[in-house]
Amino acid sequence: MTNREVELLAIGAGPSNLALAVALEELGPPTLAQNSLVIERGKDIEWQQGLLLPWAKSQVSFLKDLVTLRNPRSKFSFLNYLQSVGRLDSFINMGSFTPYRVEISEYLGWVAKSLSTVRVELGRECLSIEPCRDASGTITRWLTRLADGSSITSRYLVIGAGRDAYRPPVFDGVPEQRVIHSTQYRSRVAELSAELPYRVAVIGSAQSAAEMFQALQTDLPNCDIVWIIRSITLRAYEAYNQFTNELYFPSFVDSFFEARPEGREQILQEMHRTNYSGITPALLETLYAGFYLDRLNGRQRKRIVGMAELTAARTIADEIALELTDRRTGTVSELRRDLVFLGTGFVREMPALIRRMAATLGLDEITVNRRYRLNVPGPATAACYLQGVNEATHGIADSLLSVVANRAEDITRDIIADRQPATEGQPDGEILDGDTLPWTAEAGMVP
Ligand SMILES: Cc1cc2nc3c(=O)[nH]c(=O)nc-3n(C[C@H](O)[C@H](O)[C@H](O)COP(=O)(O)OP(=O)(O)OC[C@H]3O[C@@H](n4cnc5c(N)ncnc54)[C@H](O)[C@@H]3O)c2cc1C
Repeated sequence: MTNREVELLAIGAGPSNLALAVALEELGPPTLAQNSLVIERGKDIEWQQGLLLPWAKSQVSFLKDLVTLRNPRSKFSFLNYLQSVGRLDSFINMGSFTPYRVEISEYLGWVAKSLSTVRVELGRECLSIEPCRDASGTITRWLTRLADGSSITSRYLVIGAGRDAYRPPVFDGVPEQRVIHSTQYRSRVAELSAELPYRVAVIGSAQSAAEMFQALQTDLPNCDIVWIIRSITLRAYEAYNQFTNELYFPSFVDSFFEARPEGREQILQEMHRTNYSGITPALLETLYAGFYLDRLNGRQRKRIVGMAELTAARTIADEIALELTDRRTGTVSELRRDLVFLGTGFVREMPALIRRMAATLGLDEITVNRRYRLNVPGPATAACYLQGVNEATHGIADSLLSVVANRAEDITRDIIADRQPATEGQPDGEILDGDTLPWTAEAGMVP
């Protein structure tokens, strides 16, 4: 099977690596951008495609796009996207800082198509990564194997493949076709018959569970829904205020990184409910109105069961039997359902792809430096960067859009500094207008 070599390979074409592609074109020497490739396992570029619901909105300002906080004059801004699709005036007229999720998704696709030199290839799934060493044991390249049997070697590797979905262990013995994680919501619901009166359970008490609960009422209008939550009731994200929001600034990353371990722990704990375990006030209001209208109209097709611990799950014939333990009384009951929807979020530890790579490096602990470069044992002339999985060292905003533009600059500048001796004389570090870069037949997005 074929092996290709590029200077920089970025795995995943989500916001993190698309912001990187933009930074490479704007900040890097042309030779680096020309020899950079982003691979994406999806057939299209879509943002959070599992929950790409028509009414769902982004939770951060449109100004926290892939580039504006780093370079407000960039042609890759969300505003320029709006202008190019003819919606700038109506977006302004909406009077909202938070775009629909669907338009962020389209913006990402527009950025990928607008790249001049960095290539984006779709339908390419990375299966594994391992280091290549020379005779002295120095790591000189990364070998990335793809699902199509080919492989790519690169001196620089940037992993921005998101996080792994969390499926609670109680579902280990339950067939996959009965258990749907929020990351699969849209594609799996599309396979179901909208007319059937499914009995479904939604698990989890945060935003993704709430969005599925709401969407199911339209997508499977005859279904009977039980929403199982561990807490006593639903809660909003901790109220937005400008002081806590400052802790999502890219400039806060330094302050967080420099903190001692106890300090980082305290900050993450204090900020937890600003980003996790909550629901947006707007969605809570819609949900409550839905329950109220059911009371008004005498309908009984949905309910919330609070203080419920899911203690076991098994399949009996065509049903899933969920064992629920009431956290108030300790009473155990059984609930029979056809389908379970998991709004259980993501695994806290590093994604399996990164853990498997770390095992090939003999790493006990996976850590990155301030510029997101993986700390590897022994000598290396190759470098690997991790995006979006460094909350423990870089703060709560690490998995969010809030920092992608500046993080992309940190990584790009680290790579430029690292390759400097080999490429002396190349232009470096200045902001280039992407239009001035040479266009090649391979440039831009390859479907
Ligand atoms: C439903 C939902 C809503 C969200 N809303 C917001 C919000 O409003 N604001 C905000 O700031 N953050 C939000 N987030 C957080 C979200 O993580 C970030 O916005 C952002 O998507 C992170 O970008 P990323 O590129 O690091 O990862 P992702 O967006 O997850 O992108 C990773 C990409 O890598 C691809 N990929 C994965 N594995 C492989 C592989 N092995 N080979 C090749 N490609 C691969 C995936 O297909 C995907 O395209 C939301 C998250 C979810 C789940």
